[in-house]
Amino acid sequence: MKGFEYLQEQLDEMKQEGTYRELVPLESAQGSKVQIKGKEVIQLSSNNYLGLTSHPKMKEAADQANKEFGVGTGSVRTIAGTLKMHEDFEEKLAKFKHTEASLVFQSGFTTNQGILSSILTEKDVVISDELNHASIIDGIRLTKAARKIYKHVDMESLEQALKESSEYRTRLVVTDGVFSMDGNIAPLPEIVELAEKYGALIMVDDAHASGVLGDNGRGTVNHFNLDGRVHIQVGTLSKAIGVLGGYAASTKTLREYLIHKGRPFLFSTSHPPAVTAANDAAIDVLLDEPELIDKLWENTKFFKKGLKDLGFDTGISETPITPVMIGDDALTHKFSDELFEEGVFAQGIVFPTVQRGKGRIRTIVTAEHSKEELQEALHAFEKVAKKLNVL
Ligand SMILES: *Cc1c(COP(=O)(O)O)cnc(C)c1O
Repeated sequence: MKGFEYLQEQLDEMKQEGTYRELVPLESAQGSKVQIKGKEVIQLSSNNYLGLTSHPKMKEAADQANKEFGVGTGSVRTIAGTLKMHEDFEEKLAKFKHTEASLVFQSGFTTNQGILSSILTEKDVVISDELNHASIIDGIRLTKAARKIYKHVDMESLEQALKESSEYRTRLVVTDGVFSMDGNIAPLPEIVELAEKYGALIMVDDAHASGVLGDNGRGTVNHFNLDGRVHIQVGTLSKAIGVLGGYAASTKTLREYLIHKGRPFLFSTSHPPAVTAANDAAIDVLLDEPELIDKLWENTKFFKKGLKDLGFDTGISETPITPVMIGDDALTHKFSDELFEEGVFAQGIVFPTVQRGKGRIRTIVTAEHSKEELQEALHAFEKVAKKLNVL
């Protein structure tokens, strides 16, 4: 069929540059080891921080929900697709997050879109960290609000933006809690102080902090003892929580507003029963098995130290997201391909996800990895680095 020649040209260009990537289908369940192309490899690229994608209690909850309530809901939440379990879960989640209320969206991505596109008008301004996640950027594109972008985690730049925006009704400062490509934590105490000084609201996207930071994985706000001082906490149920979904944990007012105005909530079908039941069971797991988070951090320290001892540059990470800096885009992909040959699955991340020339192998260890697996992975990194003259 004709008409897409201009797209094919761009794809061909990407192939020439070495930045074209095939999808990589797993032939097994997610886990510390997975099967890819018939080969068993150590998984270092998932967001399955706690191994919850296959937690027995969550699978059991999903099975039960499937049996009792079927595989789908047949409607959006606002018409006929709200099950009692959806609301029960939102209450439980709010309690867990120490907030008045919460509202679940289909994904973290649609949560950011739904919030940012609905709560701001031309009378308002959104002030956003330059390295915020794509879903925040897209959410901002959908608002009529003015926008200011401040330099990454730069508090002088944030204060400047706050000073320059006194004429607006609402000033909303938005930041990732943990930055997904570098693994650094936002300086929330300073952000909160500045926002309070200038009377601004704060929204934190805790996608990579949910289940990872704070008591029982409550996130960065709890991690910094800032409960009650951050207006909107966005979280995802798709990463450490192991299932699917996103949420806004905030006030009753925001929840009610989003039910009426949050477009993905209004116009896209609600989560299947199995998804909600598994998410619900995940909160119990976080409360009952804090040792999973301890193990995650123990593995994180072990792996980071191993990489540093080998001489790798792991950037500014403070979390289980550990980038191994390579530089050149094509070399980064080559490094990843060689790791696979050595039995390690760790994807290269290059432009446009990160700046050109800042290519990296992005690794995330999980609570499921054994020390032996991590040691084996470190050997593979060493071997490939020597082969490609990277160290
Ligand atoms: C992954 C991610 C999202 C999207 O979450 P999903 O539930 O996968 O849609 C949103 N924000 C940040 C910061 C993320 O890292």
